[in-house]
Amino acid sequence: MPKFIFVTGGVVSALGKGIAASSIGALLEAKGLRVTLQKLDPYINVDPGTLSPFEHGEVYVTDDGCETDLDLGHYERFTHAKTSVANNFTSGKIYNNVITKERRGDYLGDTVQVVPHITDEIRSAIKSVATPEYDVIIVEIGGTVGDIESLPFLEAIRQFRYDVGRENVVYTHLTLVPYISAAGELKSKPTQHSVKELRAIGIQPDILFCRADRPLSPEVKRKIALHCNVDPDAVIAAVDVETVYEVPICFQAEGLGKLLDKNLSLVNPPEPDLSVWLEVVRRIKQPGFETTIAIVGKYTGLKDAYKSLAEALLHGGIANNTRVTLLWVDSEEIEAKGAENYLSEVDGILVPGGFGSRGIEGKIAAIKYAREKKVPYFGICLGMQTAVIEFGRNVCGLQANSTEFDAGIKDPVIYLMGKWFNHRTGKVEERSKDSQMGGTMRLGAYPCELKEGTHAFTAYGKKEISERHRHRYEFNNDYRQFLCDKGIVISGTSPDGELVEIVELKDHPWFVGCQFHPEFQSKPIDPHPLFKGFIGAALKEKRSLFP
Ligand code: GLN
Repeated sequence: MPKFIFVTGGVVSALGKGIAASSIGALLEAKGLRVTLQKLDPYINVDPGTLSPFEHGEVYVTDDGCETDLDLGHYERFTHAKTSVANNFTSGKIYNNVITKERRGDYLGDTVQVVPHITDEIRSAIKSVATPEYDVIIVEIGGTVGDIESLPFLEAIRQFRYDVGRENVVYTHLTLVPYISAAGELKSKPTQHSVKELRAIGIQPDILFCRADRPLSPEVKRKIALHCNVDPDAVIAAVDVETVYEVPICFQAEGLGKLLDKNLSLVNPPEPDLSVWLEVVRRIKQPGFETTIAIVGKYTGLKDAYKSLAEALLHGGIANNTRVTLLWVDSEEIEAKGAENYLSEVDGILVPGGFGSRGIEGKIAAIKYAREKKVPYFGICLGMQTAVIEFGRNVCGLQANSTEFDAGIKDPVIYLMGKWFNHRTGKVEERSKDSQMGGTMRLGAYPCELKEGTHAFTAYGKKEISERHRHRYEFNNDYRQFLCDKGIVISGTSPDGELVEIVELKDHPWFVGCQFHPEFQSKPIDPHPLFKGFIGAALKEKRSLFP
């Protein structure tokens, strides 16, 4: 059976539990262990699919088509874990399962209660990922210790140690050690309170991660250790860093490797080989080149809404030894003031995924600018659909739109496809006319075949690929021949040729729109080919003022 590491958080939210959990994973993989990670989220939504990206950040999509928390993106970027429906449970999903069982009569007349029924369900959710293919399962509990709603999860992980044996479970806790400038000191009291809270519910943390804006002195560590009932060695400083990919290296420098060996009772553990991470960090901190990319979308004030995208662009930079500066442009501003005003000094333009009609015309104007001025363009999902609309209107003279934005449009170049074949499941998927929300999307990994001699083929260097989707609308095949005759290149389709997955333009240095979300599969240690290709093209066509 694998071992389990639980990651809880205290004092305040947004301390970076997801990054801490992922960095533990990266460090263990660097020791040759096989890991996976799981997120337990205390909110009541059954999954984050319906949550506003404003409030909750991006919805991350797994291969098996599950809409999950953005932390799963960190897990996949930092480790080789492939997440699935089993890697993210919310309170809503847990309660839903319990209520379904109760209605079915599974509890045989029992009074169904938080303890033991909800906590049992949580424990079996944790065990559902614990297969023999892993040595260690890292489980992150969302929220902050002290929240009412996280109590059942904390109770479940408390019970868990008795369930699978003390030697198989490690509790870690991430807290804040603030610097009070008036006193000129780092203060340990919030950490003491948070650990006290945790101990009151029966969990004694084995390892503390202390987020601080400066290193922790041995005295501060000793004080925290004394009050929190841990060894001074078990107090790991999590000091602010320039790039999150430095965290595994910092944790190792703080002695986390040895600490995990001891706590996981590893026999003859190897030293971790962090050379790939050192190289990633070197390329981020001392790149050879610079480039500027404009991202034209909604939610541009809230970077978490495009978390994986921003990371994938950074990875494209790593692959090209280039610093990528992102210029977030609100497409409604382009509508008001014109594309030239915002895009004249960028090396590449990207329109990301999105829903709803707000700002659409600004995105189309940005694409027109990219096409005409021959600026490298990368369209993702909605960014591919809007590229087709722009081409339909401005090159082919169609009254083109997506039926998402104008249901009665004369030329629906993007529309709702009634049926399609899902090559992953081998089933025909059907979309009923009136089912607009939740459950009607094309979700998860689909195979795609590339056409030789295209930018896409050059980027991937192979014919068969698999990429993840999250959308309702599709390229309308009724317009396929016509658009191709006018210069659109269809460089990727589903194996049966029915679903258009990638479009490109002839006579343009690099103009690629894909119906899928390549950003979900990019890693710093393995940058995604399309992001590598896009940044490479932006560098080649460089117009910005940077050297
Ligand atoms: N709104 C579009 C659709 O549903 C695009 C979705 C997306 O970009 N993820 O098809």
